[in-house]
Amino acid sequence: MTRSSLPPFEEYIEEIRSLWETRWLTNMGEKHNKLEKELEAYLGVPFVSLFSNGHLALEMAIEVLHLTGEVITTPFTFASTTHAITRNGLTPVFCDISASDFTIDVDQIESLITDKTTAIMPVHVYGNVCNVMEIDRIAKKYNLKVIYDAAHAFGVTVNGQGIGNFGDISMFSFHATKVFNSIEGGALTFADEKVKNQLYQIKNFGIVSPESITYAGGNGKMNEFSAAMGVCNISYVNENIAFRKSVVELYKERLSGIKGLTLLESQEGVSSNYSYFPVVFNEKQFGKTRDQVHAALAQENIIARKYFYPLTSKFECYDGRFSSNETPVAEYIAERVLTLPLYPELSKHDVDRICNIILGK
Ligand SMILES: *Cc1c(COP(=O)(O)O)cnc(C)c1O
Repeated sequence: MTRSSLPPFEEYIEEIRSLWETRWLTNMGEKHNKLEKELEAYLGVPFVSLFSNGHLALEMAIEVLHLTGEVITTPFTFASTTHAITRNGLTPVFCDISASDFTIDVDQIESLITDKTTAIMPVHVYGNVCNVMEIDRIAKKYNLKVIYDAAHAFGVTVNGQGIGNFGDISMFSFHATKVFNSIEGGALTFADEKVKNQLYQIKNFGIVSPESITYAGGNGKMNEFSAAMGVCNISYVNENIAFRKSVVELYKERLSGIKGLTLLESQEGVSSNYSYFPVVFNEKQFGKTRDQVHAALAQENIIARKYFYPLTSKFECYDGRFSSNETPVAEYIAERVLTLPLYPELSKHDVDRICNIILGK
């Protein structure tokens, strides 16, 4: 399915060597601060705050904005987005997705706003960009906060602008499986300088000085070994994205124009990071269901993922609290989508094999 990017071994060893001299292994050390600066430049954002993982970053983003009540979001996402809302004691209100890019359907947001709504939490699914302008307009009109789950969208730009510049806060994940990784890790990006300090408190137990603890914060700090991995990996991101692009082009050559298969369309003005290659199988037109294709690939030891399936609104832990009838497009896609293996080193030979199995050749 995926393969974690690693820098050359010697480069990482060189980067962590100084840690044996300083013995400074975590708590906003030299590597942490270096990565923060490099990411501000790479993502083209005013401020970056690093975290031990993307999920905790998302939970702490909700905390720093003091959200209450209801948050409008989508169920076509990874568990993290919805759990971050409920674990903060808030209620997710599920909006359907657009059939063309799988991001939140902006035409349905306003009808879901109540007097309890405090925020919108959209997801840049597969690196596809949400309609950020329309979401911004709605948020301003109803005085709502916006937190983007940008876990899939590292390095994506819209008309040359980094995707982390929209909404109040954006969350990026640096998990091992993502386009850019720091083993585990994550970041929040934002424009309000005050947020930087407040996040620092939240992720470091609210400690101002050894004898002054002003906030009941948690622990979300990124350690130096992770930050060093990030520092090494960042210099290979562009190259990796270019390799991913060529893999995606190979897939497109083989799979576009096939009846019953829907591929992602590229979005105007958006430079993609080619993070995923989802295919939607219409069983009536294609002759095979998504599950049949998934099984045929598995038989050849090829792991494609039903990503995202099931919808988060249908998780057992939510115990029938939400109905997927209200998000029919999300339901339709979740039942039919498969993301194909995609990583920079995937060979043309492997892409051909995968496509032959899918097409029954
Ligand atoms: C990976 C991911 C997260 C969580 O990030 P972690 O760094 O794994 O905690 C959140 N949302 C989405 C959409 C993701 O893909």
